Amino acid sequence: MKADIVTIFPDFFRGPLDYGITRRAQEMGLVKIEVHDLRQFTHDRHRTVDDRPFGGGEGMVLKPEPIFDCLEPLGLSARDERLKGLAKESVILLSAQGERFTQEVASDLAKLDRMVLICGRYEGVDERVADFLADRELSIGDYVLSGGELGAAVIIESVTRLLPGAVGNEASTRQESFTAHVAGEAAEGGEFVGNASTCGSNGLLDYPHYTRPAEFRGMNVPEVLIEGNHQQIRRWRREQALKKTLRNRPDLLQAADLAAEDREVLERLK
Ligand code: SAM
Repeated sequence: MKADIVTIFPDFFRGPLDYGITRRAQEMGLVKIEVHDLRQFTHDRHRTVDDRPFGGGEGMVLKPEPIFDCLEPLGLSARDERLKGLAKESVILLSAQGERFTQEVASDLAKLDRMVLICGRYEGVDERVADFLADRELSIGDYVLSGGELGAAVIIESVTRLLPGAVGNEASTRQESFTAHVAGEAAEGGEFVGNASTCGSNGLLDYPHYTRPAEFRGMNVPEVLIEGNHQQIRRWRREQALKKTLRNRPDLLQAADLAAEDREVLERLK
């Protein structure tokens, strides 16, 4: 996959994308990240990227010309082809007003060959970018950041770890929090990782993880994990995932893929 970032702060990306899985994925050639400095697409002495808003009001707005000029040489398919899904490319405007970025959106983006992430600043970006250049607006959460750069890094990191080969054990990305049902995928030993009766996420939050030491300052790892009965471990993990989701994110239960057994557990927990 190719990921292009359009920003007025190209140095911002020295660091956040140079660690762990994202770094390894770049070294393996799974993802190529290119940062484009918006100021290089200005034509005045001061390299102006922003201007005052028409109609008055607070702050400055990123001008459309440098953004359009930056994208033109990238050789992307026409916007209507992208919108019809005829090209595996997407131009994304980071915006607090955008559709919420979720694990499901990340998994859709991971199927693309290319994504272009436009980072706003100041009061935002001239609306013609959203209307005529970008394919979609994405928000990383219901809060306002000073710029789209952190959002672009969040999107690239979460999409990269879903690219085949990026994470050593691919089954782990299928069982994580927010990951929807994966029908009929057999894991090691013939267990179905995507079946609602197992510990697979299926839209729930992940179950709790523990490692050594088994006892730490009087805090013990749950006995069931040490005993090694895999059936019981699976049941315990599923129950813990349900418990955590009920406590921290009850909204997720509506869309989660729940078995009758899960519903019984929830009734008991309520
Ligand atoms: N005036 C805008 C509003 O109220 O919605 C906020 C503009 S914000 C200060 C500047 C830029 O930060 C935006 O253009 C966008 O690119 C980025 N940004 C802010 N919050 C964001 C969020 N939750 N998700 C993605 N990008 C965000």
